[in-house]
Amino acid sequence: MDYYSHLNKTELQEELSKLEIKYNEYKAKNLSLDMSRGKPGPEQLELSQGLLNALKADDSLTVKENIDVRNYGNLDGLIEAKELFGEMLEVQPNQLIIGGNSSLSMMYDTISRALLFGVVDSNTPWSKEEKIKFLCPSPGYDRHFAICEALNIEMITINMLDNGPDMDEVEKLVSQDETIKGIWCVPKYSNPEGVSYSDEVVDRLAKMDTKADDFKIFWDDAYTIHHLTEEPVVVKNILHACRTAGHPNRVFIFASTSKVTFPGSGVAVMAASEENIQFIKKQLGIQTIGPDKLNQLRHVRFFKNLDNMKLHMKKHAELIKPKFDIVLNVLESQLGSLSIASWKKPKGGYFISLDTIDDCATEVVKLAREAGVMLTNAGATFPYGKDPRDRNIRIAPTYPTIEELKTAIEVLCLCIKLVSIKQLLNQQ
Ligand code: PMP
Repeated sequence: MDYYSHLNKTELQEELSKLEIKYNEYKAKNLSLDMSRGKPGPEQLELSQGLLNALKADDSLTVKENIDVRNYGNLDGLIEAKELFGEMLEVQPNQLIIGGNSSLSMMYDTISRALLFGVVDSNTPWSKEEKIKFLCPSPGYDRHFAICEALNIEMITINMLDNGPDMDEVEKLVSQDETIKGIWCVPKYSNPEGVSYSDEVVDRLAKMDTKADDFKIFWDDAYTIHHLTEEPVVVKNILHACRTAGHPNRVFIFASTSKVTFPGSGVAVMAASEENIQFIKKQLGIQTIGPDKLNQLRHVRFFKNLDNMKLHMKKHAELIKPKFDIVLNVLESQLGSLSIASWKKPKGGYFISLDTIDDCATEVVKLAREAGVMLTNAGATFPYGKDPRDRNIRIAPTYPTIEELKTAIEVLCLCIKLVSIKQLLNQQ
């Protein structure tokens, strides 16, 4: 701590009193600002309004393979949608299932089916094993961890480094423990740190020896086209890497248009080896008679091709980049010289991840909430909601207006200062 650590007790107390006055001024404003979830703002939703007119009553609704999209059927989705999303994920149409509106529910279903029936290389359904575990690179996506917790899958925290999970740790654990059945990965612009996996990490994940024959990578490519800069990050194709490494069935890939078009009314997809897809389709055929093909066709007609999708994402970036910038600017101007917090500068995705000094995040989030600024619960980015160092805070800047964000981050910075000084005083 540079500045505050040079102050003596009286000076610190004076600083604290000044900050408390400011804090109470904000409190009196009865703010109500929500930065807790990564939701697109209303102006982003406007970009996809054309989706609602992409299908009209007199349009032809019979598509390739003579499919009438209004009717039942097509368990794995429309061929046109497979072509579009296959290009997006760099996989073949027969390596895809085009699903409903939520990739998260595809992940949940995939794990549920593995628990009930096993996966391609299983000897037994996962739920018949005495215990199973997943590796959870952290900070990570709270809802991945919630799925594990709800389904009684023990979570092992893995440190997230600048280019992906700590692979030395991952390789060591999976090679020794056959109860480890999976790992969660958000390979590009990760939630919340904006980390993108290096080629080396992708290759090591594909190649590593695992004690469990039915070990799976859950590759949640949620932010694959969500760039914030002019130089989109490219992550090595994991499906190819796994095939080349002799583990063709190791990975399940997920993505959706939730933050491309409309969250809740987008199209979700999953990709895997043909063998995996055939295996899943047999089970899926019991679960449903087919997905919402009208929505799939709307998306195909609206975008037509990947280039248009990329253009569309540039418009998103134009709207949200200034929001990321204001957060980063306020953090820098308020905290830049204090050494009481550090934060990431993401090149894409939906979040800014901030670390306070140890043992402060819960109190900071609480104080901010009491002043009307809602942040994701401290700890949420770790398994079981417990951040071992209680320092990580996830900022979701896309929904509030720029004005609101400026105020919200000023309040956040104030709370970080308050809590840090109190901690210093306690230590003295
Ligand atoms: N994966 C990640 C990493 C996410 O951040 C989100 C949205 N917050 C989702 C999945 C949710 O995707 P969907 O809307 O397709 O269920």
